[in-house]
Amino acid sequence: MSMFEDIPVDVGVIYEGERIRRNDMQVELGGPSLKEKFELAKVKPMNEVEDGKITIIGPDIKDMEEGKAYPLGILVEASGSTLEQALEGVIERRIHGYLNFIEGFMHLNQRYDIWMRLGKKAFQKGLNSFTYIGKVLYKLFKSELPIIEKVQITFITDPAKVKALYPSALEDYEARDAKARGLKDEEVDKFYGCVLCQSFAPSHVCVITPQRYSNCGAISWFDGRASAQIDPKGPVFAIERGELIDTEKGEYSGVNEAVKKRTLGDVEQVWLYTAFDHPHTSCGCFEAVAFYIPEVEGFGVVNRSFKGVTVNGLPFSTLADSTAGGRQIDGFHGMSIEYMRSKKFLAADDGWNRVVWLPKEVKERVKDFIPADVVDKIATEEDVQNIDGLKAFLKEKNHPVMARWTEAAAVEETAPAEATAEEGGIIPVASAATLPIMAGGFKIILKDAKIYAKKVIIRSMKDEKKS
Ligand code: SF4
Repeated sequence: MSMFEDIPVDVGVIYEGERIRRNDMQVELGGPSLKEKFELAKVKPMNEVEDGKITIIGPDIKDMEEGKAYPLGILVEASGSTLEQALEGVIERRIHGYLNFIEGFMHLNQRYDIWMRLGKKAFQKGLNSFTYIGKVLYKLFKSELPIIEKVQITFITDPAKVKALYPSALEDYEARDAKARGLKDEEVDKFYGCVLCQSFAPSHVCVITPQRYSNCGAISWFDGRASAQIDPKGPVFAIERGELIDTEKGEYSGVNEAVKKRTLGDVEQVWLYTAFDHPHTSCGCFEAVAFYIPEVEGFGVVNRSFKGVTVNGLPFSTLADSTAGGRQIDGFHGMSIEYMRSKKFLAADDGWNRVVWLPKEVKERVKDFIPADVVDKIATEEDVQNIDGLKAFLKEKNHPVMARWTEAAAVEETAPAEATAEEGGIIPVASAATLPIMAGGFKIILKDAKIYAKKVIIRSMKDEKKS
């Protein structure tokens, strides 16, 4: 791209999806080791924006120590005669896409979760200042979104300044999200799809509805609509909702068609309000993961910034790996925090009545949206540390998920009789939308699998050892 002649590295779509490992990185900006970091877009009056101005507050890249992580705030201030505040979310999300066009630069996540790395090779080629990164952003914003007439970009690396600005950035995100609440999925005839993350997860499409915010938590239905209008050829597109096939699970014919087309047939069916069978796919930049805990038949939820291990002994990173990649994995569900504020939050799975554990910080953030009769029955890391503790906690609090424990016991008793009638004595013991089996150096993937067995024997490992 000739417009990037003055940038010391290449810039282009081919660099999207490029990963930079710790050993190859010159510096890390934001990321999990730092609490305060953000990227924010603001629409401003024309006279408050100096077109092309790039400001650096704090140390520049060349002043940073190799291998270290630094806090970062990115502020993109834009103006235009027809530019509205409603487009701030759209402009902000483009930062992710544009920065990933830079050779040797990686941008992950969004808003208050940003995580960037600059590779050593790119640094050695001369990419040693935020001025270059600002220039790339400036040029792409102006060429890709002509509605932006002026834009100025500020990089803040001074830790005290990032810390001081962080709370107001959070307020901005909350104000934006609050505006998008209230509209129902049934009230609109179009949803929006986003394929921005296909560079990392080729079979992923976010389906953004009024009541199911995007996985990254950065694009509401209103943002999707605005984005599709100002840039119809961009990564966000309209989906005709089509026929409502299943109200409870959230299956729409238009969604199935659009997802099938955009994933080249990899994903054929999506149920929007469940984590089972045909759940919404998960890319990699979801804010949180809902993970099924079979021992209690409920869901745990963990967010990206949770540092410890969850109640099942696994950290966010392991659960995220099991969830990501644009797959539909039974019982693992990538999602935004804002989706937890929706009435459709895992609605087909019984919503909040099915959630048994979540980090205290997340609980505080979404507390007002959890039904009053359940909120104190959901454990956090402060209440329980393992599954046994969780079971005891749920029993003591009489959590609604316990109704399933009784149902399960009843089904266990009656299963053989039903099975004799329906399946000739063979009962289904497991089903999954996608079930990978590793055998003899091959990976066999069974789609829509149901496993049948004549008999199921459940034996405790302790008993096994004794015998
Ligand atoms: S998580 Fe979804 S909505 Fe957000 S950028 Fe990725 S594909 Fe788009």
